[in-house]
Order: sequence, then C-alpha cells, then structure tokens
Amino acid sequence: MLNNYFSSEDVAQFRVWMEWADNYVIMAHKSPDGDAVGSSLALCLFLQSKGKNVKVVFPDCPPDFLMWMSGASEIMTYDSNPDGISDMIYKADVLCCLDFNSPGRVEGMAAPLLYSRAKKIMIDHHPNPSGFCDVILSHPDSSSTSELVFHLLCALGEWGNVTRQIAECICTGMITDTGGFAYNSNSSQFFYIISQLIDKNVDKDALFRKVFNNYSEYRLRLTGFVLTEKMRIYEGCRTALITLSQSEQERYHCQSGDTEGFANMPLQISGVLFSVFMREFGNGKIRVSLRSTQGVPCDRFSGDYFHGGGHRSASGGEFIGTLDECVRELERGLEEWRKSDEDCIIQLFR
Ligand code: 5GP
Ligand code: MN
Repeated sequence: MLNNYFSSEDVAQFRVWMEWADNYVIMAHKSPDGDAVGSSLALCLFLQSKGKNVKVVFPDCPPDFLMWMSGASEIMTYDSNPDGISDMIYKADVLCCLDFNSPGRVEGMAAPLLYSRAKKIMIDHHPNPSGFCDVILSHPDSSSTSELVFHLLCALGEWGNVTRQIAECICTGMITDTGGFAYNSNSSQFFYIISQLIDKNVDKDALFRKVFNNYSEYRLRLTGFVLTEKMRIYEGCRTALITLSQSEQERYHCQSGDTEGFANMPLQISGVLFSVFMREFGNGKIRVSLRSTQGVPCDRFSGDYFHGGGHRSASGGEFIGTLDECVRELERGLEEWRKSDEDCIIQLFR
C-alpha cells in the first residue's frame, strides 16, 4: 500500500545514529506553518519516547493557532535567544532539518547549521534540495513533510509505538499543507495514511476545527477588509493581488498567523490562476506569498523577482523597499512573463 519512498541505506543510517546519539536538534523554516510545526513535533515526540534529549528550534514563533499541539510549549525560537540556540546546534549529535532544503530558509541558524559537526538529516518535500545534509529524505511528490515523517516511522518499524499525539501532529501537517485535502492530496495512499492516523484515535474533524476555526474576531474582520478594499484583479493576466500595509495590520490587531490563507483566497475566483499577497513588515521588508493553479510556476516567479522559491503552486519570497515598489516589481515580472512562449505561462494571457 505504501510507496517505498526511502532507500534502505538511508533508513539504516538514521537507525545507526539512533543507537548512539542522545542529543537531537530539530529545526524548520522561518514563519513555521502547520507542516513545519507538525512534522517537527511528531519527530520530537517520537525521539523523546525513545529516551532521547530533543530540542525543537525555529527562527521565529509559529502562529498561536498551532500552539495546541503536543510539545508546542517547548519550542524555542532563535530570534529570542540566538547565542543559546547556536550553542545547542553546535553541541547536538544529530540535526534534523524539516520542511526546508536550503540553509537560507532558517536565516540566522544557517551558519551554526552548516558549521556544526553533528550528523545531519533532511526530511523535506520541496524541489531541488541543496546537499548540506548527510542523509537527504527529499520527496517533492509527497503532500507534506509530515507525511514523510509517517513514512520514516513506518520504515523504522516503529508504527506500532506511535502515539495519538504523534499521529495528531502528522495529521495536522497533512491537513494544512493540502489546504484541508483540497490540493496535493490526490492519491489513495494519502487517504490510506489518513486512515492509519484515524486508527490511532486522531479526531480529524476536531483538528480541522482547531486549524481552520480558531481565529480571532479581528482576523475575520481583516479578511472582509482585504477582500473588499485591498484585492485587485489584473484582468489581462488572470492574476490577483492583495497588499497589506503595516498600519492596516495595526488597525486590525494583526497577529503572526492572521494572514494565513490570504494568498489562496483569490484563487476562488473563476479564471484567476495566479495570486499574490504582499505583507509589509518593519525595516522596509515585504513578505510575498504566491499561489497558483493549473501549473503556473509561481516558484519560478518568486525566485526570479522576490529572492524566494517553494513549490510550483505555492511559494514565497521577500522584497526590500516600499509596497508600491513591490507592486511595480510584480507588474514588471508579469510584463516579462507576457513575452514567454511556455504553455504554463501563456495561459495567463489568453
Ligand atoms: P508562504 O507563502 O506560506 O510563506 O510559503 C509558501 C511556500 O513557499 C512554502 O512551501 C514555503 O516553504 C515556501 N517559501 C516561502 N518563502 C520562501 C522563501 O523565501 N524562499 C523559499 N525558497 N521558499 C519559500
Ligand atoms: Mn511543507
């Protein structure tokens, strides 16, 4: 029933490390999402059940709506204690890099990650991994890194020892990275795995409520505001844009997870194939989130214009400058795309 995602050598290597290694640091990318948090906590809880000393470290805090997960209260963030976290990374026996595949995605932790003499394993589903780990479990076909953690636990022969709490973390990552089973989940194997998680007494319906119906009143009012006032449709290129300035975020008491899903919303409009969301931060930085459908390569757009990357249909990046300049960069990119002769791009301009 399960694809054999990993080579037996890779799994055997991790098993050998588990025989001698006591100190593990698990890290994931900046602005950790449900998959980054779910996969990290699942692996953490599993290794702790084997008596290991495990720390979960992220560049910055996950949004509040993910903090109900088992083990979430022990998460540490680099931005609040850079020296202490660097020290942990240098002293670890094994570093587990989850849901990212290039060191830049962990920002300030990149240097200790690269220079640490720990053994390193990557578990990730983004395309084109860079080779900074000893063991690379990279599968772009997988819905999520959390799904890959499921495969790893099975390959280690440990599924019988997996608890409901671990299964919940895996299920949360599989829910969030597929937009609630809406995309990247078109296989019987995906739902076989979900069925295995439910057999561990995961309440899938309750997880949906915790993930999608757990926002503040402000967030819902902010959603209304951006859709009414801030969404712009570029008719000639099937593209939508939402921008959000810092002062607008302040007006709606915007917290870190409150814009989750904004980039996806315009894709609900029939005919819109490409959606961009720009959020202004302090220090002149704009975070850009890109989403697409029907194979529009938004990871390429992100790489070419916003120093970013990600998946073909969901990517991110950033821009240094004002929101207006960032919008002009998007428009410049679209004008260049207009000259393309690739089917996946010209469909935007038909
Ligand atoms: P989001 O828009 O939710 O921040 O990110 C969407 C996807 O793009 C995620 O899979 C994330 O890992 C990836 N991503 C976001 N920002 C960046 C970035 O700056 N660089 C790269 N390479 N990927 C990113
Ligand atoms: Mn992911």
